[in-house]
Amino acid sequence: MLNFTVGPVMMGEKVRAIGAEQVPYFRTPEFSKVMLENEDLVKKFAHAQDNARVCFITGSGTASMEAAVINLFDENDKVLVIDGGSFGHRFVEILRIYDIQHTVIKPEFGHGVTAGQLAQYDGKGYTGFLVNLDETSIGVLYDINLISEFCRKNDIFLLVDSISSFLCDPFDMEELGVQAMITGSQKALACPPGVSLIVLSEEAVKRVYSNSPKTMYLDLKLALKDGERGQTPFTCAVGILRQINERLKEIDAAGGVEREIERIGNLAGYFRDQIRKCDFPFEIISDSLPNAVTPLSPTNGVSAYDIFTVLKDEYRIWVCPNGGEFKDKVFRVGHIGALETRDYDVLLEALKDMCRRRFI
Ligand SMILES: *Cc1c(COP(=O)(O)O)cnc(C)c1O
Repeated sequence: MLNFTVGPVMMGEKVRAIGAEQVPYFRTPEFSKVMLENEDLVKKFAHAQDNARVCFITGSGTASMEAAVINLFDENDKVLVIDGGSFGHRFVEILRIYDIQHTVIKPEFGHGVTAGQLAQYDGKGYTGFLVNLDETSIGVLYDINLISEFCRKNDIFLLVDSISSFLCDPFDMEELGVQAMITGSQKALACPPGVSLIVLSEEAVKRVYSNSPKTMYLDLKLALKDGERGQTPFTCAVGILRQINERLKEIDAAGGVEREIERIGNLAGYFRDQIRKCDFPFEIISDSLPNAVTPLSPTNGVSAYDIFTVLKDEYRIWVCPNGGEFKDKVFRVGHIGALETRDYDVLLEALKDMCRRRFI
């Protein structure tokens, strides 16, 4: 099997081997050590301040999106949210469900947000800003420097869903003044799905302690308190957290986050060059590409979903289909996980074969 989706992705050998082991009991000094190491390495890779904290949630990325919103904002906030695809839309839904005042910014399809779009919200009393840095559903990477500047100028609390951009695109939490960021285990961390995490600045930690969200499982006060000693309030996904530990240490040993970003960027570059060179009937639909994924749209009327199905059923290769209105228009090729350039050669060969067979 060759998996080019954006999660779950291909896992490295050592991470997989841990998955085959028995899951140990976790209220132990040994597991606490694993968790404290995880916290330190995540902070290091996010370029968070020393006094930042990390909450590990057993639940996929969306659990952390919901936890972050309800622990960091309340009914007195007025937030801006970018809705450029299905993940942006998810933030909007969460804000709606919890009755948090918000204004939606809708970028043009395939584009990021512009300075002009943000300028109209200057000085309007907004207190929060929510963005999915890489809107994975359509492969658009927003300009985080622009957003960060806007938030600084307006003294706005910035929450970033970096679920698919963490370890993929440059990100310096401290320098950008990001107060909270989210990621998940099944994207560039290349572990099984089931764990997500929230990095909180000192200011964000204070907000959590002064807020009273109506939730028990997702109340981050408990996670912060127990996390001080490397523990979690409830039984966590122990096995996945051990796999995350292995993966974080591997990245560290191989040269750290910058090296990993470069590796993923090189894979994306290799694939995109080949796509252009081979003259496939696809176009790249985003003008602000993230490193994690390449969104492609067939230009000859062939259904994107059929391309996904044929690759899966006849070549045992997974690319990422889109849902809803983009089902037939867009498919995506990911660059995260344990992949190498020769894996892309296999995919490109399959696509060429599909051209020869006049399928595409
Ligand atoms: C994958 C992803 C999520 C989380 O989705 P889950 O299915 O809950 O893990 C959220 N935001 C972005 C930008 C993502 O890429």
